[in-house]
Amino acid sequence: MTNYKEIGLVNTRAMFAKAVDGGYAIPAFNFNNMEQLQAIIMAAVETKSPVILQVSKGARNYANQTLLRYMAEGAVEYAKELGCKHPEIVLHLDHGDSFELCKNCIETGFSSVMIDGSALPYDENVALTRKVVEFAHQYDVTVEGELGVLAGVEDEVSAAESHYTKPEEVIDFVTKTGVDSLAISIGTSHGAYKFTPEQCTVDPKTGRLLPPPLAFDVLKAIEEKLPGFPIVLHGSSSVPQEDVDIINANGGALKQAVGIPEEQLRQASKSAVCKINIDSDSRLAMTAAIRKTLAEKPAEFDPRKYLGPARDRMKDLYKHKITDVLGSDGKLLQL
Ligand SMILES: [Zn+2]
Repeated sequence: MTNYKEIGLVNTRAMFAKAVDGGYAIPAFNFNNMEQLQAIIMAAVETKSPVILQVSKGARNYANQTLLRYMAEGAVEYAKELGCKHPEIVLHLDHGDSFELCKNCIETGFSSVMIDGSALPYDENVALTRKVVEFAHQYDVTVEGELGVLAGVEDEVSAAESHYTKPEEVIDFVTKTGVDSLAISIGTSHGAYKFTPEQCTVDPKTGRLLPPPLAFDVLKAIEEKLPGFPIVLHGSSSVPQEDVDIINANGGALKQAVGIPEEQLRQASKSAVCKINIDSDSRLAMTAAIRKTLAEKPAEFDPRKYLGPARDRMKDLYKHKITDVLGSDGKLLQL
């Protein structure tokens, strides 16, 4: 048993309380390799932001669960080495799908877990989430639950259609389960293809697809039911067209990838939404930089020469999200 406190990580409780009060959101960035982790930590330190490192089941399978856990431990020391005296870094399981997986993560140093029972019938979701909360709270690990279904495909999570969270269910769910935060569905979606062309309108100026707006009325109704309770948005990448264009100009074939406009995420950050999950944008930034470098320097075969620019591009992306979209810069409890 490794408790996260022994390795310098924190849970989400204090940072979420401060974020809800302050009208900003904490970035939750997925990672599965060293360059991503370096970029996240550099960005968080330079902007003095708390940060959530997310690991999905797919990432654990890809990178090895033991290695990822020690990378997170290393991230705390790296942040200190970069000059951050009191880093606030959460190691969070993204989309835990069973009690056993959550328990295993809690026993190996995670400070926060998500149990995603959103595909189950309501009562089963409540029972599973309650079980995880009872176990996690013994170790002061925070738990995120989910109500409502997000469309899209990412790692092992996929759903064809989205179902908005029902505001009338949230009080009952939060009370019965004891969760510390709640992921809701208001029109965000997993992956880089969040919407079909039929769901979008065409911007007459650019010819690009514009996605349907988020259901802020549903968010508002949930906030009224649960004043001050931490809300989480999944599937909140914006799919920057610049990255999509670089990828496609250098041999890629991303067709009509569409994300959530940053203006809407900025608006959500000011509400009770205090955690925003971003994964696809980092994948796109990394792929754009690698494709561009390899296309411009076809004789290059030193991975550092293309992973280095990829890391730089991801770091710029993370800093932009923190400072210009979520507003978590300068929000460490102890600067
Ligand atoms: Zn998700």
